[in-house]
Amino acid sequence: MDRDRNVDAAFMRRCLQLAALGCGHVSPNPMVGAVVVHEGRIIGEGYHRCYGKPHAEVNAIASVADESLLPQSTLYVSLEPCSHYGKTPPCAELIVNKQIPRVVVGCLDPFPAVSGRGIARLREAGVEVITGVLEDECRELNRTFMTFQTHHRPFVTLKWAQSRDGYIDRRREPDEPAARISDDVSSVWVHRLRAEADAILVGTQTAIADNPSLTARLWPGRQPLRIVLDEHARVPADRRLFTDGLPTLLVTGEQTDYRELPPSVELLRLPFGQALIPALLDELYRRRLQHLVVEGGAALLRSFIDSGMWDEARVETGPLALVDGVAAPTIDRLPRQTEWCGRSRIDWYENR
Ligand SMILES: [Zn+2]
Repeated sequence: MDRDRNVDAAFMRRCLQLAALGCGHVSPNPMVGAVVVHEGRIIGEGYHRCYGKPHAEVNAIASVADESLLPQSTLYVSLEPCSHYGKTPPCAELIVNKQIPRVVVGCLDPFPAVSGRGIARLREAGVEVITGVLEDECRELNRTFMTFQTHHRPFVTLKWAQSRDGYIDRRREPDEPAARISDDVSSVWVHRLRAEADAILVGTQTAIADNPSLTARLWPGRQPLRIVLDEHARVPADRRLFTDGLPTLLVTGEQTDYRELPPSVELLRLPFGQALIPALLDELYRRRLQHLVVEGGAALLRSFIDSGMWDEARVETGPLALVDGVAAPTIDRLPRQTEWCGRSRIDWYENR
């Protein structure tokens, strides 16, 4: 039995590797990987490649050269097979139709139309179903999806770079260059983080002083929606967020009169103050944006930390010392993990 469990875990690990290949392409769907195993050998593999496209199980089964082996095979899949008609027919039906006798599942799907029903459908049809193999790893891989489905808001990542003495920038006038804390290597890391997100948020001061473009150009994948907060219409019209033609969501106060906007910019009026973060997260949930990265400035990051409505923080500390400047936010706990990227240290905090 233990041996079986180890074998199952090894094949589930392969499912996880495959699932991760969909990162940045499948949201708001989860990342899922699947393998078909016949007599201890993998005869088919697949993963969910792109939102709206076939699920992992479909791709794995389609990749099997000799379909006659399926009735003696085991299907491993990192997430419970679906049982409802969404953009594609249900995978549970496909498994039953192909007469696959055994299915090993990593974790259950929290999505209300699936949760537990995919497994029930398979068992009804006489398929042996094993659940909970590498369950924590499978949930962790899709933590943005899990948070979105269970808390009905996007997963929130706070991200900033600070000098080694704890400042996110020197004090300066708008359009004076910002202190450069990231190097070429850690910049790629930032762009990768953006490419994996659905939306990136910055505050008014950051939009004015840094004139950021917030693109993910150093990493392949989708361009996340850019969101800028501007309660009193103070951000000048010549900022890149408004002029480069890429979509931007401009969040302004309920009473603010706004100038004319280019077609790439959408205006959203929300209450500011205490109500802003919950109202914004509600709106993003409604738009099915599953992963929000908050990039600054310090005041906005602090208000997320104070609200408790954040899930992780990724803090880059570079070798530069600034002596004085804009103090970085602080998190009063130890990082879960620390790694090095270029000349920067990256601390990863979790809020749980
Ligand atoms: Zn499916």
